[in-house]
Amino acid sequence: MKLNTKSAIYALLIGAFLPIAAFSQHKTSANMTNQNNAPLFEKGDKLTNGYFTGDAYLFPLLARDKNNDFAIGSVTFEAGARTNWHTHPQGQVLIVTEGAGYYQEKGQPAQPIKKGDVINIPENVEHWHGAAAMSKMAHIAITSYEGETNVVWLKPVSEEEYSAVNKQ
Ligand code: MN
Repeated sequence: MKLNTKSAIYALLIGAFLPIAAFSQHKTSANMTNQNNAPLFEKGDKLTNGYFTGDAYLFPLLARDKNNDFAIGSVTFEAGARTNWHTHPQGQVLIVTEGAGYYQEKGQPAQPIKKGDVINIPENVEHWHGAAAMSKMAHIAITSYEGETNVVWLKPVSEEEYSAVNKQ
């Protein structure tokens, strides 16, 4: 009789926990889907053109062609990495695909940017973009051409400028 009571209690407990187990299982697979927090694109090749500070990488996605007067690439910035100051003669659109960082126009406060943000950069506006000091950041860059030019590089974002932004 005692054993039977025990068995009944176990049965109840198992009955109570089964749905939780099933739910946990569901949650686990949802989390695993989120682990498709894996980068959208591979990092590509390290940028060594001298116009970036820190470790930044370019994975080209689409070259300019007869129908598309722009180039598309995925740029990955390790924490602390950023572009030089620069302009685009026909503007640029950024789509952040990973992490967090900053976009700053000259003379303006920097804007924090994160995964999912879209930044529409006007033509000939001096700016930089990059990772935050404590986070990597990746974005797709869609950059239109004027003639053969889609970017005009200027000087580096100094440590003073960059650390001021990260203290905001
Ligand atoms: Mn830009």
